Amino acid sequence: MLIDLKKIRASGKEEENFSFEYTPTENLVGLPDATISLIKINGTAYLTGRHSAYVEGEISYSITGSCTRCLGATTKDFVVDFNEGLDMNNLEGYKIKNDIIDLTKIVNDRIIMNEPVNFLCRENCKGICVNCGVNLNEESCKCK
Ligand SMILES: [Zn+2]
Ligand SMILES: [Zn+2]
Repeated sequence: MLIDLKKIRASGKEEENFSFEYTPTENLVGLPDATISLIKINGTAYLTGRHSAYVEGEISYSITGSCTRCLGATTKDFVVDFNEGLDMNNLEGYKIKNDIIDLTKIVNDRIIMNEPVNFLCRENCKGICVNCGVNLNEESCKCK
């Protein structure tokens, strides 16, 4: 996921839209037994100076895993915004190297930051009865 600022500059423009599809090589989801779909990234890169740029856009993906409460199979769609100012001379954070922005770390960090604490199949999932193990979304039990 590389954005070449030289190309934007050479085209005489100050901004350029980008779109990427991306399969992460590292595990971005800490939820047990969860997998992430193909990740789609759409956005715009802006030249803000000779050594700086600004990127903004949207990351779309879905996570499939087990509901935290009832353990039922669950898939959820996510759309996460990002915007980041980058500077070649910036020592911390995201950098521009040789006039190229690599979005990989920005995207990975956003997905990790956005991971839900509770991955629920539905807002009001009733979970599993701790006594008898019945899925309380599907049936009720006689436990007190
Ligand atoms: Zn559930
Ligand atoms: Zn029960």
